Amino acid sequence: MAKSTPTRPLDAIFSPRSVAVIGASRRRDSIGFSLLRNLVASEFNGTIFPVNPSASSIHSLKCYPSVADIPDSVDLAVILVPKKLVPGVVDECLAKKVRGLVVITAGFSETGEEGARNERALRSKVRAAGVRMIGPNCMGVINTDEGISLNATFAPTPARPGSIGFVSQSGALGVAILNVAQDLGIGLTQFVSMGNKADVSGNDLIEHWEDDPATRVICMYLESFGNPRRFTEIAKRVSRKKPILVVKSGRTAEGARAASSHTGAIAGTDVTVSAFLDQCGVLRANTIEELFDIARALDRSPLPEGNRVGIVTNAGGPAIMATDACVNLGLRMAELSDATRASLRSFLPAEASVANPVDMIASANAESYTRGLAAVLDDPGVDMAMVINVTPLLSNPIDVLEAAGEVARTRSKPVLAVMMATDEFYETAKTKPDLPPVYRFPESAARALFMLARYGAWRRRPDEAPVAAFEADDQAVEEILDRTPEGYLGPADVFRVLDLYGIPLARWQAVATPEEALAAARQIGYPVVLKAIAPDLVHKSDVGAVRVDLRTEEELSRALAEMTAALLRAGHRNEGFLVQEMARGGHEVIFGITTDPRFGPLLMFGLGGKYVEVFQDVRFGVPPLATSEARDMIAGIRGFKLLEGVRGEPGADLEVLADVLLRLAQLVERHPRLRELDINPFLAGPDRQTARALDARLRVGPVIPPTTEQV
Ligand code: ADP
Ligand code: MG
Repeated sequence: MAKSTPTRPLDAIFSPRSVAVIGASRRRDSIGFSLLRNLVASEFNGTIFPVNPSASSIHSLKCYPSVADIPDSVDLAVILVPKKLVPGVVDECLAKKVRGLVVITAGFSETGEEGARNERALRSKVRAAGVRMIGPNCMGVINTDEGISLNATFAPTPARPGSIGFVSQSGALGVAILNVAQDLGIGLTQFVSMGNKADVSGNDLIEHWEDDPATRVICMYLESFGNPRRFTEIAKRVSRKKPILVVKSGRTAEGARAASSHTGAIAGTDVTVSAFLDQCGVLRANTIEELFDIARALDRSPLPEGNRVGIVTNAGGPAIMATDACVNLGLRMAELSDATRASLRSFLPAEASVANPVDMIASANAESYTRGLAAVLDDPGVDMAMVINVTPLLSNPIDVLEAAGEVARTRSKPVLAVMMATDEFYETAKTKPDLPPVYRFPESAARALFMLARYGAWRRRPDEAPVAAFEADDQAVEEILDRTPEGYLGPADVFRVLDLYGIPLARWQAVATPEEALAAARQIGYPVVLKAIAPDLVHKSDVGAVRVDLRTEEELSRALAEMTAALLRAGHRNEGFLVQEMARGGHEVIFGITTDPRFGPLLMFGLGGKYVEVFQDVRFGVPPLATSEARDMIAGIRGFKLLEGVRGEPGADLEVLADVLLRLAQLVERHPRLRELDINPFLAGPDRQTARALDARLRVGPVIPPTTEQV
């Protein structure tokens, strides 16, 4: 066991001294054959024991009728017998005191309730014995550590040593992952197909790689998400040490549920997944290819200090594409200093462009790249660089890549290369892991730079705890919620709950009759806003149940009469009125809470008003929130500039907005039966006095028990 410390829980699986393959087979078309062949071909450093009652030897290894018959101790048992035999075989393994299990056999929880029961029984048995298990229904594990050299998978493609730890929830995709890695020349430390993750989960693997110096980047392919609480905790911690990259596929049916609130309608499961990963500092890629593009950059490059890109090229077209791609992703094109331009001018031909992108034109050779890239990287306004090279006639692009590598080595800024070159070049580049990562197209390099910048920003962020508790009368909140065990609270109760949590409200009174409404208006002061109260009245303005800016008693009286009539026409039972102060000034924003069956409560912030669903300019966050996370949600919307103030318009008090988010986070944490809340609009005024909620809806329901499934 060369590099690994022997105390880690998964070492029995990754670093065994002996492996039994139970269900090894002589049949060439079986996985029992392929797996044993891979073990032998990977030149495993320990002993291999094939187990099969009807063979005496397989792959020239002596074969045993059962684990019990193996004369030596067995660290790891790989099981690929038919599913009915699995429990018995596992019993034998536990009796034999194996330390780790990889169960390849399928037919468990993925097949239905009976399979799930069998799987639970398997887990209890294994856990009671203190043995760790990968699977069932998986493709196996690989450890490329040269002291171990374990390939206990039936995948046709092996893995080469490297610095990426990869876990795949899908076995079939695992095969593709190993293929792509091979094609791109990417090396792995370990590869795990975790299958149904009855015991070992993605969380365990992240923790396994957390302190493994050989693993520099953690990559995950996930299909479903289990209980995210533990994942949040682990991922937040580990992503401060090394990057975690995830491809998450599959949109679940829960996401498509009919939603009656704005927040619920926008919160499809997929945006929630992204919000959640963002908040943990986990990077998300869309495809496996993209994941490897980003992983290569993270593996080989330092992190940039900012998001300003310098481009050095010998052709205009690809540089324009690169610029577009960078800018669209939110990176900035660096502004080169006069000194940098002068230095470039001193050796480049007159036709070259010394502004960013630096176009050294087709006559540029490796020497030009050395000097050009050095000048650009040394500019303090440049955080990272992209080198673009279209192979000219009679020139060797490897020289260019080596020149770039030489320059990059002595500077602590990332350099990625886009080489529009032949397959032959790529074959050679693959064998040179010390050179900058190469990409065929500018868009892939731009995305990788973007992710470097993003991850760099995450790493620079202070590690801040969720905010301390606000004072609130939770008992009073519970009493209000008790009045409506399930469904929508009346508007007065909603406002009371918000008030108890210190959310600023436009002054309001709920009244039963027109006479009381007039009295309330006198107290509040004109102009006022009148709203009808009626059960199941969702979008009040649609049925004429909102009248704003009523300036006099006469106007209010008329509005009361008209509203009563309008409600009658629309078939609503009028249960009184809400009289509010007329609020002015500021931007309409929305705050929301929704409960995702898996993620639990989610907070939303965005531009509000009637067009919320049209623009969908919102961000999600998972409570509990730290102050910086609340601020990020606010600053993360596309329309943030509006809130900062544009064209002489005053901006909004952003601290108030963050404060409201934090209070709502606490509200839903303490009162989990609060299932949905929309505050829309909240008028985000220029100061604390003018910021307030104008309308809110709140639905309560039974608490959803959190899933215990692990990520
Ligand atoms: P609903 O969303 O049910 O149609 P709202 O209470 O949100 O009803 O009112 C509709 C719109 O009227 C709001 O988006 C806001 O623009 C305006 N409005 C509501 N209440 C007030 C108020 N107190 N002061 C000023 N404008 C208001
Ligand atoms: Mg509204």
